[in-house]
Amino acid sequence: GNAARVQAIHQITNRKPTPPKSPERLEEIWAENVFNLQKMQASLPKAVFKSIKKTIMTGEKLDASVADSVATAMRDWAMAKGALYYAHVFYPMTNLTAEKHDGFISVQGDGSVISEFSGKVLVQGEPDGSSFPNGGIRDTFEARGYTAWDVTSPAYIMETDNGSTLCIPTVFVSWTGEALDKKVPLLRSIAAMDKAARKVLTLLGNDEVAPVNSSCGAEQEYFLVDANFASQRPDLLLAGRTLFGKAPAKGQEFDDHYFGAIPERVQVYMQDVEETLYKLGIPAKTRHNEVAPGQFEIAPFFEAANVASDHQQMIMTVLKCKAKEHGFVCLLHEKPFAGINGSGKHVNWSVGNATQGNLLDPGDSPHDNAQFLVFCGAVIRGVHKYGPLMRAAIATASNDHRLGANEAPPAIMSVYLGTQLEEVFDQIKTGSVSESKHKGVMDLGLSSVPPLSKDAGDRNRTSPFAFTGNRFEFRAVGSNQSVAGPLIVLNTILADSLEWVGNRLESELGKGTELNSAIITVLKEVMELHGNVIFGGNGYSEEWHTMAVNERGLANLPTTADALPVLKEEYIEDLFKKTGVLTPVELESRFEVYAEQYILSIEVEAKLVINMAKTMIYPAAVEYLSKLSSTITSLSSLGVSLEASSAQTVANLASAMMKDVSALSEALATHDFATTEDHMKHCAFTVRPLMDQVRESGDALEGEIADSFWPLPTYQEMLFIK
Ligand code: ADP
Ligand code: MG
Repeated sequence: GNAARVQAIHQITNRKPTPPKSPERLEEIWAENVFNLQKMQASLPKAVFKSIKKTIMTGEKLDASVADSVATAMRDWAMAKGALYYAHVFYPMTNLTAEKHDGFISVQGDGSVISEFSGKVLVQGEPDGSSFPNGGIRDTFEARGYTAWDVTSPAYIMETDNGSTLCIPTVFVSWTGEALDKKVPLLRSIAAMDKAARKVLTLLGNDEVAPVNSSCGAEQEYFLVDANFASQRPDLLLAGRTLFGKAPAKGQEFDDHYFGAIPERVQVYMQDVEETLYKLGIPAKTRHNEVAPGQFEIAPFFEAANVASDHQQMIMTVLKCKAKEHGFVCLLHEKPFAGINGSGKHVNWSVGNATQGNLLDPGDSPHDNAQFLVFCGAVIRGVHKYGPLMRAAIATASNDHRLGANEAPPAIMSVYLGTQLEEVFDQIKTGSVSESKHKGVMDLGLSSVPPLSKDAGDRNRTSPFAFTGNRFEFRAVGSNQSVAGPLIVLNTILADSLEWVGNRLESELGKGTELNSAIITVLKEVMELHGNVIFGGNGYSEEWHTMAVNERGLANLPTTADALPVLKEEYIEDLFKKTGVLTPVELESRFEVYAEQYILSIEVEAKLVINMAKTMIYPAAVEYLSKLSSTITSLSSLGVSLEASSAQTVANLASAMMKDVSALSEALATHDFATTEDHMKHCAFTVRPLMDQVRESGDALEGEIADSFWPLPTYQEMLFIK
């Protein structure tokens, strides 16, 4: 019956609203919980501070004696703020955040206790990482990897209901030196990109060239559902998405939620989230409703990729924790509800340095324009050459529900440049540049490129990868993902392209070609070889899917089972090897971990589908049928007849559902696969369709059975009751 649902609605409607806290002054709380440079300066001897500051700026190894001083100051600061524990926080390959907590407590020989935190434990930790998937890098005998503080990312205090913890962002490495996490390859990809970018900048005639870093600003979409409902949905609790649920009479057709007024309860929650983030030094900047009912977005101001990536993980943690405190469940899944928009995470990405600024910003002098076109050309080449890798970087079981679903970009990687910039590259390609020789290459080529305005791109929302004026926006990334994976790929393919561009420029210049002609020659080559990847039309359309594959030769990799095997291809192995971002062993282990995750999550969902169908939906159908049949019988004894067609429909649907449940159980029992690839395919092309079939009958039953018999909170309730 629906007693629990009714009870939930009762509780929600009688909920005493959490009063909004009066907002604290931003200047006062900003980075209050971060042990940043200012706090170090205030608490460390001058010489020590100078040394740690240098380490932070250069990313060098921390000196042991300095580490001790820093650790002590950090501990004193943390304990004064109520922390009794510290944790090395790391980012395993699973998209999650992992931490191992240790107390500052140290028991002395005489049984007394002191609080202790040495430089050694600050700098290096030994979590028992044996339970983290490692794709075969370590067998369980030497299972322990170690964590090491990434000094470029500051320590902070995370306040939760269970008390405060000093958190130290770390890398996670095996004893044999292999990266077991997402941070190490991210740092390596930035280094590779930096090296290649500096060479190109020097070739472009810049006298002074500072280290080049990449920046990231990620827009995070999420859903909020009242915890009273979520707790009655095993699918939401265990899979993060609904596996059953009939579309409500009112969906998002009216588009009235987008940028509408934020419901008060949600607003109070958001303020609480933002205040927590400000204290953590995370620059939360925009908040608004999203397209679907119950869907929202938060976006921080962009930061250096490494820090932005750590901060993104913290944002996801805070969103979830705070939701609990406010009686919500925060769903970060890419497709929590069928039939309405899913959630993405737009990764805004650019590269730049202190001397030349943002290298993806057109700028306003011919020199800046030329430089911009070179970097932009390198990106175009990278996306064309390694589009399938970009697809693989965003391949998860949950993101597969979203990509290509007429609301999110297709699973085909292309670049959107905006009309103006596309024209410029077209001109370079068709050679209209060198045709009019009387004006000279310089005039027609680069100085005649009109100053590109910042918001040149008119924001094609259907493109997976769009230029938006001074950055690229990778829009196909899933809401539940770490941004590190996509950033690693973007930086690495740019490194590879810049390396190529650098070599080509060098050889042209070596022939005595003048710089601007050399640039045009190289860009023309980029366009001839890779211009096919540029697409400004509607990415959702059928025509594009056909054209992309048949005429342009671009890969369409609709499922994770299609996309992940790309990681095993030789040209991808070469890419990571030559840029030094991942060794072949590290790459292989990533394939294994991601494939395993994919298989696991589909199998968990399939089991849940079976379970819910058998123990919740079928019993509701039977109960309703029994009620119907006894009514029909007693009515007929009175000489009144009631059409039995509804009973027949319910019986048919229930039988059909159980037949599909059997087929699904059988499919799940299959276990002998020659390869991981075969196992993934089985999940994608056998298990998933059967799950959908079970759901189809289940959802139809929801439309037939009396509401008072229906056990699961409905879409209407979950999406519209706040
Ligand atoms: P929209 O919703 O129109 O795409 P938003 O303003 O919501 O744009 O989000 C844009 C994101 O891009 C923000 O996180 C912003 O800080 C970030 N961003 C802006 N400029 C850059 C840049 N040069 N490099 C990386 N990210 C950037
Ligand atoms: Mg955006």
